[in-house]
Amino acid sequence: MSESHCILVLADQLSWDNPALVDARPGIDTIVMAEVAEEANYVRHNRHKIVLLFSAMRHFAQVLAERGFSVRYFRLSEGLPDLEAALKKIVAEVPVSRVRVCAPGEYRLWHSMQTWTDRLGVAVDVLEDTRFLCTLEAFNDWADGKKQLRMEFFYREMRKRYQLLLDNGEPEGGKWNYDSENRVGWRNQIPIPARHDIVPDAVTTEVIDEVLDAFPNNPGDLSQFRLAVTHADAEAQFEWFCEVALPSFGTYQDALVEESPWVFHSLISMYLNCGLLKPLVVCQRAERAWREGRCSLSAAEGFIRQILGWREYVRGIYWLWMPEYAERNTFDAKRPLPEFFWTGETDMRCLQQALRQSLDLGYAHHIQRLMVIGNFALLAGLDVKAVCEWYLAVYVDAYEWVELPNTAGMALYADHGAMASKPYAASGKYIQKQGNHCKQCRYNPSKVTGTDACPYNSLYWHFIDRHSPLLGKNARMGLIMGNWRKRNVDEKAAIVAWAEEWLATL
Ligand SMILES: Cc1cc2nc3c(=O)[nH]c(=O)nc-3n(C[C@H](O)[C@H](O)[C@H](O)COP(=O)(O)OP(=O)(O)OC[C@H]3O[C@@H](n4cnc5c(N)ncnc54)[C@H](O)[C@@H]3O)c2cc1C
Ligand code: SF4
Repeated sequence: MSESHCILVLADQLSWDNPALVDARPGIDTIVMAEVAEEANYVRHNRHKIVLLFSAMRHFAQVLAERGFSVRYFRLSEGLPDLEAALKKIVAEVPVSRVRVCAPGEYRLWHSMQTWTDRLGVAVDVLEDTRFLCTLEAFNDWADGKKQLRMEFFYREMRKRYQLLLDNGEPEGGKWNYDSENRVGWRNQIPIPARHDIVPDAVTTEVIDEVLDAFPNNPGDLSQFRLAVTHADAEAQFEWFCEVALPSFGTYQDALVEESPWVFHSLISMYLNCGLLKPLVVCQRAERAWREGRCSLSAAEGFIRQILGWREYVRGIYWLWMPEYAERNTFDAKRPLPEFFWTGETDMRCLQQALRQSLDLGYAHHIQRLMVIGNFALLAGLDVKAVCEWYLAVYVDAYEWVELPNTAGMALYADHGAMASKPYAASGKYIQKQGNHCKQCRYNPSKVTGTDACPYNSLYWHFIDRHSPLLGKNARMGLIMGNWRKRNVDEKAAIVAWAEEWLATL
C-alpha cells in the first residue's frame, strides 16, 4: 500500500500544472483546500477577489472530486484561523506521510511554511512553482553580475527562449518592441465593445451571499460581479478578448477613458494569477491572432510583452530581493493615505474615476494604476507601505509578488530605480493628452496655481523641487531639472507654496 500524501492547494494555485497536483493519486492522496481567516483578512481584500477565489476553489474542488480525488474542503464558516490549522486537522485525521504544496506567491506565507515541518511533525515539501515561464534560478542567473537590470533585455531573452514572434531568430517586423505605437490618447475614436460577462451560477451566488455577510466593511460592489470562476469560462473570456478587443489593444493601451473602466484591455490578470489561465497559452494565442491577420504586430507584441516580459520580470525582482525589497523608500515618503483612497470622494475627475472603479470592481488598467493613482501617490509623497497595502487590498489580481514591484518599484520609485530608470512622474498635461477626463473635471489642466489649477501640476513641480538633489543625479531627468532650475525664483516659490497649501488640505 502506497503512503498517503496530503496535497495542499492554495487559492491562487487552481491549475492542473500545480506541481503538487501533477503526481496526485486518486484514492490514495488527500487534497486539502481551505478558506481561512488569515488569508482572507491579512489586508482588507476587495470582495470581488474573495468571491473569485472562493468560488473558483469550490468549482475546482468539485472537478477534483469528480475525477476521483479525495478532497477535504474547509469553508470559511468552519472558522479555521490559518492554513496550518487546516493541515493540523488533516494530519490528525488521516495517516499521511508528507504534505506537498506548491511554493506560495507571497514571502509572508513562504516564510511561515519554513516552520511547518517542525510544527506539524510531518515532512512538508514546498515545491517550486512551475507555472511561470522563467524559473527563479534562471532569473537569478540572468540578473547575476548585472549592474542594472532592465526588463527590455530580459524580455528579448524570453522571446528567444519561447520562440515567440520570431523570424529565424530575429524579431518579427525587425523590432523587438512596438511600445511607441501603443500610446494613442483617447478621443472617442472608435466604439468600445461590451464585455463578455459571466452570469454568476448557484455556487458563485452562494459565495456572494456569504462574503457579503462575512466582510461587510471591505470594498467591492458585488452586484457587479461578472468574473469567470472556472477554467472554461476564463478561456471563453480570453477568447472574446482575442476576437474582439485585441486588435485595438495596442493602440489604446495607454488611453484614459471616461466611458469605460476596461477599454480594450484583456482582464485576464486575475485568471493568470490564480491558475485559471496559462501564460504561455495566452501568448501563443495572441501570436496566432497576428499570424492569421486578425490584429497588428504591435497589438500582439504589446500584449505578449506584458505577460512574457513584465509579469515574469516583476516576479523575478520580487524573489530576488525580498524581504529587504519591501522596506525600500527612496524618497522617505511618509504622508498618510488620504481618506478618499477608500471612498473615491475627490473632485479630481481622473483620480475619482480610477479610485471608484478600483474600489467597486477591483479593477483599474495599467495606466490608471501607474499614471493616475500611482503618480498622485508619488507626487504627494504618500507613505510607501500604506500605498502598497492599499494596492494589495483593492485589486482582484493582487498578490504581493506582482503588486509590490509594480507599486513600490514602478509607481513610487521607492526601490532606488531597480524597476524603473526614472520616476514615472507626470503633470496633468500627460493625463489630458492620454484621455478625456479633464473635460469633465472642475480643474484646469493648463493651470499650475489657483483654486481651479489641476493639482497634478503644482504637485509635479513640488516633487521635482523637493527631490532635486537626488533627481539631479539621474541623467534621464536632466532636461526637466534644467527647466525647473531656469525658472524665475518668485514663480518657483509661488508654485511650491501653492502645492504645499494644497497638500495641507489632504
Ligand atoms: C501600481 C501598480 C500595481 C499593480 N498591481 C498589480 C497586481 O497586484 N497584480 C497584477 O496582476 N498586476 C498588477 N499591475 C500590473 C497591471 O496593471 C495589471 O496586470 C493589469 O492592469 C491587469 O489588467 P489586464 O488583465 O486587463 O491587463 P492587460 O493590460 O490586458 O495586460 C495583459 C496582461 O499582462 C500582464 N501585465 C501587464 N502589465 C504588467 C505588469 N506591470 N506587471 C505584471 N503583469 C503585467 C497581466 O497579467 C495582464 O493581465 C500593477 C501595475 C501598477 C502600475
Ligand atoms: S484636470 Fe487634472 S485632476 Fe482634473 S481630470 Fe485633468 S488631470 Fe485629472
